[in-house]
Amino acid sequence: MSCDFVPLANRGVQALRPYQPGKPIEELQRELGIEHIVKLASNENPLGPGEKALQAINNTLAELARYPDGAGFELKKALSEKLGVQASMITLGNGSNDVLNLIGLAFLNSQASVVFSEHAFVVYPMMAQYLSAQAIEVPAIDYGHDLEAMLAAIREDTRVVFIANPNNPTGTWLGHDRMHRFMQKVPDNVIVVLDEAYAEYIHDVDYANGLLLQKEFANLVVTRTFSKAYGLAGLRVGYSIASPQITDILNRVREPFNVNTLAQAAAVAALHDHDYLQKSIDLNKRGREQIEQGLAAMDLSFIPAQGNFVTFDTGVDAADVYQKLLEQGVIVRPVAAYGLPRHLRVSIGLEQENSRFLQALKQVL
Ligand code: PMP
Repeated sequence: MSCDFVPLANRGVQALRPYQPGKPIEELQRELGIEHIVKLASNENPLGPGEKALQAINNTLAELARYPDGAGFELKKALSEKLGVQASMITLGNGSNDVLNLIGLAFLNSQASVVFSEHAFVVYPMMAQYLSAQAIEVPAIDYGHDLEAMLAAIREDTRVVFIANPNNPTGTWLGHDRMHRFMQKVPDNVIVVLDEAYAEYIHDVDYANGLLLQKEFANLVVTRTFSKAYGLAGLRVGYSIASPQITDILNRVREPFNVNTLAQAAAVAALHDHDYLQKSIDLNKRGREQIEQGLAAMDLSFIPAQGNFVTFDTGVDAADVYQKLLEQGVIVRPVAAYGLPRHLRVSIGLEQENSRFLQALKQVL
């Protein structure tokens, strides 16, 4: 007789549901037999990877029989020069998700609690669950972080506070002064993680500057990624900036070769490709205007946001709208699991992809 292993899994893992990614294009093609699918579901860069990154990958292929540089020397050097931080403050990850996980592994356990906001990036509650930490979810205001309530929610056993700025899936963001006041009040033995996966897209000049705040507050960890504006989601590269001591701790639990050779080379090249980054940001700005105007023309409200996606209120049960959009060959992201059952999140794509989405939505509604 075969054994039931679920009760033998770690307590937090027993009831855990795996992360639900956006539906892959190939899967919908198989299901519907439609050739031209538009995927605006995973906040990816619609431009595709930059030429310089592709070239770096090509130039590095011959090295694949060897392990990557486990210390990520060249990438840390490039980041250090670009961001004006010491290499000893950088932790590299297989996507920034990996770095978030390292923070959890190093600091969370069944004796600890972790604070995050309602509607916040789903990896935070998942991590709390699989590490058996007490999850403290703080109700949002206007879909965004209520920093005062989050401060009040911090307890003696709180080790980590996660703040996504801007937040996924709501796109809400925090200003610098507000975040600064928050940091002044957070006990210095509580780690605050400022998840800046979409930082490069921010256009609000008052936006909380994580790197500046990190210089003042040693308990602040800023995480960033090459998956969005740098167009390398498939390679998986992200990083954190933190005090040398926290960085040392994160690197103790880091898998030895967590960032592969191609990813490291492409990330260095992408960091130097200013034209590609600017092109991505400009395209995103125009695409946001296009989508927001299109939604407004249909009398649909959306959450004012920064980042490379728009979350809008369908006015009805969004599961139904999502399904009908799929039938039209358009993949967006349902966000019911984030407590937003009437909303859908659409990633900003190329102009023609955004038009196709708007047309399909009009038809469906
Ligand atoms: N943080 C936020 C807020 C995100 O939206 C994402 C991607 N969905 C990540 C972190 C992780 O991204 P990656 O692992 O690709 O760097």
